Amino acid sequence: MNAKLDTSASWRDRARSLRIRTQAFIEGRYVDAASGQAFDCINPSNGTVLARIAACDVEDVNRAVASARAVFKKGSWAHLAPKKRKVVLQRFADLILQNGDELALLETLDMGKPIRDSLSIDIPGSANCIRWYAEAIDKVYDEVAPTGRDTLAMITREPMGVVGAIVPWNFPLLMAAWKIGPVLAAGNSLVLKPSEKSPLTALRIAELAVEAGIPPGVLNVVPGFGQTAGKALALHMDVDCITFTGSTATGGLVMQYAGQSNMKRVSVECGGKSPNIVMADYPDVERVANAAAAAIFFNQGEVCSAGSRLLVHESIKDAVLEKVQAFSSTMQPGDPLDPATKLGAIVDEIQMKRVLGYVETGRRDGAKLRFGGERVRADTGGYFIEPTVFEGVRPNMTIAREEIFGPVLSAITFKTVEEAIEIANDVIYGLVAAVWTRDITTAHRVAKAIRAGTVFVNCYDADDITVPFGGFKQSGIGRDKSLHALEKYTELKTTWIDLS
Ligand code: NAD
Repeated sequence: MNAKLDTSASWRDRARSLRIRTQAFIEGRYVDAASGQAFDCINPSNGTVLARIAACDVEDVNRAVASARAVFKKGSWAHLAPKKRKVVLQRFADLILQNGDELALLETLDMGKPIRDSLSIDIPGSANCIRWYAEAIDKVYDEVAPTGRDTLAMITREPMGVVGAIVPWNFPLLMAAWKIGPVLAAGNSLVLKPSEKSPLTALRIAELAVEAGIPPGVLNVVPGFGQTAGKALALHMDVDCITFTGSTATGGLVMQYAGQSNMKRVSVECGGKSPNIVMADYPDVERVANAAAAAIFFNQGEVCSAGSRLLVHESIKDAVLEKVQAFSSTMQPGDPLDPATKLGAIVDEIQMKRVLGYVETGRRDGAKLRFGGERVRADTGGYFIEPTVFEGVRPNMTIAREEIFGPVLSAITFKTVEEAIEIANDVIYGLVAAVWTRDITTAHRVAKAIRAGTVFVNCYDADDITVPFGGFKQSGIGRDKSLHALEKYTELKTTWIDLS
């Protein structure tokens, strides 16, 4: 961090002189929405309006797709040698890092996450993702099939063409980067629709892309609402592929839109209700409790892979929850611009009310509120909720089944390994899971039995760009990150050559 920016006062000073990009970015230029409409972008830490952002709709999406298609056809990006795309994308990653303080500030002002996380996770993680795909793209080879002497069958990957990406607000730039990196490295053009709750960083990096040398039209950004800009993109007849991250309900709609229009390729990264299973034999109660608290309270619990269900063996429930409570006391909500704050604001008033509604439902259904459950810092005008833990949660309760997407943990006890597996799998989601045990057989049995895209053993939220991320069941279709993401953004072609 810049030494001058190590207090909330210095971040606030910087915020006052911040220039916020408010227009859509189409064909390498900032433009107003064709309708002239704009929407309020709210700072969730105090409820004030940060900026008015262009509200894109069908006409703007049409313009962005046309610009993406034109440059794709021209080939100035798609036909560039991979080693040349690599250099440009590396420059793009460098520019993101060089503007890291500004981007971190935008992210924190826009969605309420602690500045320390924006600085240490979101912005460097986004640059790292783009750099990783840049470095990978001139190292992946195509295939020759073993068809015999008289024929040559080449199996090659080609860019899809125009990709539409619709992303959520919880990690605005990082979720966008998980799309931008592989989409652009593979030679596609992109129309990105950020969430209406967090459009600022996507709008800022669009001009950095052009500064890095990415041809205008290759990366377009159309801010706006899901029902307008998002739907128009997913229904568009000239978009070849739609890549979505967001809720399971919206993911299902996006799949319908693809079917109703041009059968565009679809991948959806959706919600979760991930089980964090603690076996009685795990010896370090403090370690597991700290990890369990971090797994649900990091990013205000607004994490698709949050460990929102703590499945704990009945014999150690109290010992674990006592330590969870102790750790949680170090994570009380604070000013997101204070570098000491570990838990920021909930993204907006609607989401805050939704989370508090789940707290009410938990109480009504008979779960015991062990601690938390209240809105705090209301005098700031911001939307803050304290870390909250329910115990005595039964697997059939709403708070054990639905994604709350806030700092609310549901603790459920079990008696046997089989029962833990049964409860873990008994939800519509399958994004991640964790098991804590000293017994290697139990670890492997549980890891194999759980239907989830990632299973952690004796850790939670280990992370690296080299591993795929995505879910089983209604947590999604397809994988972000790793070389597997390139599969989503390329078509496979076989070329037969007769050699006889
Ligand atoms: P959301 O589904 O409400 O919105 C996601 C995006 O879809 C936004 O850009 C929104 O404007 C757009 N959208 C909304 N309605 C639309 C429509 N009818 N047509 C097209 N686009 C539409 O989700 P959210 O509240 O922004 O994000 C939270 C959700 O994202 C959670 O469920 C979380 O688990 C999930 N998520 C998943 C992952 C993952 O990798 N699996 C990562 C982050 C977040």
